[in-house]
Amino acid sequence: MAVSDPLALEPTDELAFTLHKRVEVVVAPEEEILNSLNIIFSESMDTADDLLTEMVAEDEGLLDNVLEAIPDLIDSDDAAPVIKLVNRILFQAVSDQASDVHIEPGPGVVNIRVRIDGILYDRLAPPRHYLPFLASRIKVMADLDIAEKRLPQDGRFNFTVAERKIDVRVSVIPTSEGERLVLRLLDKGSAHLRLKDLGLDRDNLDRFVRLITKPHGIILSTGPTGSGKTTTLYAALSRLNSKESNIITIEDPVEYNLPGVGQIQVNSKIGLDFARGLRSVLRHDPDIIMIGEIRDMETSEIAIQAALTGHLVFSTLHTNDAPSAVTRLVDMGIEPYLVSSTVTGVLAQRLVRILCPRCKEPHQPAPETLSRAGLDQTSLNGARVFRARGCSHCLQTGYRGRTGIYELMLLDDTIQQTLIHSPEANAIRDAALKAGMKTLLSDGLEKVRDGITSLEEVLRVTSA
Ligand SMILES: [Zn+2]
Repeated sequence: MAVSDPLALEPTDELAFTLHKRVEVVVAPEEEILNSLNIIFSESMDTADDLLTEMVAEDEGLLDNVLEAIPDLIDSDDAAPVIKLVNRILFQAVSDQASDVHIEPGPGVVNIRVRIDGILYDRLAPPRHYLPFLASRIKVMADLDIAEKRLPQDGRFNFTVAERKIDVRVSVIPTSEGERLVLRLLDKGSAHLRLKDLGLDRDNLDRFVRLITKPHGIILSTGPTGSGKTTTLYAALSRLNSKESNIITIEDPVEYNLPGVGQIQVNSKIGLDFARGLRSVLRHDPDIIMIGEIRDMETSEIAIQAALTGHLVFSTLHTNDAPSAVTRLVDMGIEPYLVSSTVTGVLAQRLVRILCPRCKEPHQPAPETLSRAGLDQTSLNGARVFRARGCSHCLQTGYRGRTGIYELMLLDDTIQQTLIHSPEANAIRDAALKAGMKTLLSDGLEKVRDGITSLEEVLRVTSA
């Protein structure tokens, strides 16, 4: 019997007594034991598919007890059918490491899809008349108004799967076809909050660490929605987090709890936006501030003031590459000299899916694919390139997990001068490339040559 606490003798004794056998005890980390329990549990439990088949066959008692409280999903076997179905959908989403569950009306059915590693997959298609029951159950869980079907609603709830706590943000919008629901799953235990786990190569990692350990300045993380910007900033804050520094964040939403860090949730309903939150944060004598996103001139002005008065400021912007981030601030109305004297570095990024190690296969990319990446046969230098295939280990997707590709621009003298005299993305990009900046594409191609991801995947995320 594997135990995490060898000093707790009672369970061992009980098992030995029940089995009339001698029990040999080995010590294992609690996480490993819970993972094994999850695997055994998911293999022994009906899948959402099986359950749905059963429900459709009986088609009764659907609305019973939609109002029950949320138990640990492992203990929820005797709940009403619709509750069970929602629980199974959630459980399966968690074990597939999905980030979102989409429930929406389709022709004659309810489409249930999940997002795994950034891509949406079809999961279940229950009959169309299940939609109101599923919507009601999820609204109950998220403490929303069941009767309200004409206005959008947002809420949240959390549940546990074998002691793993999962936070869910629920968004319901009415459409002419019926309500659409999106459930965003935040697994607070699984955040990879160490800088060295983000996929930065050695050189970029060294330079990024030097950048964030400067006492003041603005560091921007940039990329489209879902490119992992926030995770990068959380990893940077975790690295800097110590008793000697006061770190305060203002976010929308607060995605992970960072112990020892003051995190403020933006709340537009009560007028607490980024700018207003940031002003009160500055009165709290912080050393390091993280602003979830710079969206307007007002927020960027306060961020610049904070950097000029000796604070280290982290934030994100939506731009395609690193050079466009500084020009975006200029476009918002900030003087170029203020941008050049405060922003110390910009990290642009994308997430690429990691090839499944069990089924990836070597292949020769087509000449068209190579030329899209600006390559020819010779430039691969004899490196083996792999492509996705699909097996049971990776749910037939060919990929498992994701990592980042990066473009890190440090604002040296030349780039600062370029920014002041000709604040255009192209000029700044040229100066940065001369200074040795590696582009998103070239960082991605390195990961292709290392067999971590596929050429198709790098092209998918870098072609804007
Ligand atoms: Zn596979």
